[in-house]
Amino acid sequence: MYAILDDAARRARAYLDGLNERAVAPDPQAAAALRQLDEALPAGPSAEGETLALLDRAVSPATLATAGRRFFGFVIGGALPEALAANWLAGAWDQNAGLYASTPGVSHLESVALRWLIDLFGLPVGSGGAFVTGATVANFTALAAARNAVLARVGWNVEAHGLFAAPPITVLTGLEAHPTLLKSLGMLGLGRARIVRVPVDTAGRMRADALPAIHGPTILCLQAGNVNTGAFDPFEALIAPARAAGAWVHVDGAFGLWAKAAPALRPLARGLEEADSWATDAHKWLNVPYDSGLAFVRDASALKAAMAITAEYLPTESAERNPSDFTPELSRRARGVEVWTALRALGRTGLAELFERNCRQARRFAQGLAGAGHEVLNDVVLNQVLVAFGAPERTRRIVAAIQRDGTCWCGGTVWQGRTAMRISVCSWATTDADVEQSLAAMLRLAAADQG
Ligand SMILES: *Cc1c(COP(=O)(O)O)cnc(C)c1O
Repeated sequence: MYAILDDAARRARAYLDGLNERAVAPDPQAAAALRQLDEALPAGPSAEGETLALLDRAVSPATLATAGRRFFGFVIGGALPEALAANWLAGAWDQNAGLYASTPGVSHLESVALRWLIDLFGLPVGSGGAFVTGATVANFTALAAARNAVLARVGWNVEAHGLFAAPPITVLTGLEAHPTLLKSLGMLGLGRARIVRVPVDTAGRMRADALPAIHGPTILCLQAGNVNTGAFDPFEALIAPARAAGAWVHVDGAFGLWAKAAPALRPLARGLEEADSWATDAHKWLNVPYDSGLAFVRDASALKAAMAITAEYLPTESAERNPSDFTPELSRRARGVEVWTALRALGRTGLAELFERNCRQARRFAQGLAGAGHEVLNDVVLNQVLVAFGAPERTRRIVAAIQRDGTCWCGGTVWQGRTAMRISVCSWATTDADVEQSLAAMLRLAAADQG
């Protein structure tokens, strides 16, 4: 009955083994062939294995090779083989990770992984944590705790009375906050249009000298790892004064929080542990399969107060940690399985090696591009590189040529008014030879562009 699992494993291996040979972007013909899926819902069951075969035949070639070694678009990591394997095993378990009583194994595993992460990131012992789908929801989760806590301090209970007639909350973010942070604030009823945007410097860091005076209920959102430049806000200059004035300080560290796990990168993130809450992704730099993000809150009871369900029929009273007391969802997959696996499989030195290697590779890209006369727009402090190939149209043409060529894949962006190509190095699989091969392709295609 389960022979199909062997078939799936064989197909997955063939896919992954083939990634290094195929173009990173899918062949346009593969996209056209997706039409074979536009059939009517079958009247009855298909022959055993036939549906899986169609899935592989039609969809595998139409994927972008983000799991491969030379994908540098957005900030998308690959999947460590061990984490992927754990994901398959956890799929077989099919656990609903909401309540300890129903799923003790994965609930326990999540507690262990959270303890390790709090230690790895240098966050306060006893912080609450939550496994969610990604940094968007991690920001949402932590900021829900923030919203409730800053209003509780002035005697307003959001859980009971909502935001109608509540005292206003001042929300401060940098002008370079990630757009999904603004979305999270909108979903929390804090109003995207009333956010106070604090000016930033040329690296996208919030300017400490531009922070407005803080009065009344206030949430200050900082950033570890700007999505374009990789820069970190000046935490030491911002967090202590803001907290002293009564603000809740939140840090969006979707990929930058991992700098804490590498000795060579740790100084970039100095002081962020003094904040009240943090959000990060595991599916980016930790290289676990999608989807996986994490929220941490210094005051675990504030997180629990915002997220617990406490419905009569659910067996939530437990001496053990119930995952659903800390997350927006009740039922969900056990995301902690892959996170625990990746952390345990790599260990402290393996994690540091991954993050430091990717940053060294980013610096090599910058050096190679600048050496050939192209303009690198950012100080490459982390794993992100911005390069302009002259005028905006020329840069856009070269980005398109690189994507078509298929050796590697990078996306376009606009950084402080400049059209640029963004290189994000965040895969466990990228070797130094991959960087040289990709750099050679970039330089060749840039040189070939005659306008
Ligand atoms: C990617 C990213 C997000 C959004 O994360 P998702 O996992 O896509 O939800 C938020 N903030 C920053 C800084 C990011 O890089």
